Amino acid sequence: MEKIVVFCGSSLGFDSAYKYAAIELGKYFVTNNITLVYGGGKIGMMGILSQTILDMGGDVIGVIPELLKHEEVVNSNVTELITTNTMSERKIIMSKLADGYITLPGGFGTLDELFESLTLSQLYIEQKPNGILNVNGFFNHTLRQLEVMITEGYLKKSNRDMLIVEKNVNNLMLKMNAYNTPDKKDIINKVIKHDH
Ligand code: AMP
Repeated sequence: MEKIVVFCGSSLGFDSAYKYAAIELGKYFVTNNITLVYGGGKIGMMGILSQTILDMGGDVIGVIPELLKHEEVVNSNVTELITTNTMSERKIIMSKLADGYITLPGGFGTLDELFESLTLSQLYIEQKPNGILNVNGFFNHTLRQLEVMITEGYLKKSNRDMLIVEKNVNNLMLKMNAYNTPDKKDIINKVIKHDH
């Protein structure tokens, strides 16, 4: 993987473990020549991750909608800044650039981006490794909700299993690199079986 999109909070969170996880991921990207593609902000987790990479001489592509492009928010040090007209256009550009997705702790924006990328995989619009870094068990409740969705008949286990979950960066990247795209026929067959 040459370029990975990272979704993460525009806030930093209260526990310093989140900040250190962003730093660790940034270091991994630089050491392994991976370009970060992200929301372009200099605040919160986004700021820590992007600045860690830039300080180490790595490459960062920020993709930011015009409405968020204020002085106090945008990281103007990035290697490349792509400005979009809308939030939707930003997502399309990010998905075109990405070889994979990683989600770190965050809020509404982060979860919106995670679930949109999973939905694209579920519909077989794209097939890229999609992982979450479960720092401090931050995503345990989200993962529990996925179980409820399976139990209640709204989510297929095979689709849930597309999501890679790891607590540390090295294990997450090992699994992302080893990710095998599920066969399209399998997914379509499973949908038909499920619906009838
Ligand atoms: P949130 O998790 O609600 O803090 O939102 C963070 C996610 O939404 C990031 O991955 C960004 O892509 C996007 N986002 C939210 N707020 C901003 C902002 N002020 N600047 C840039 N991107 C943002």
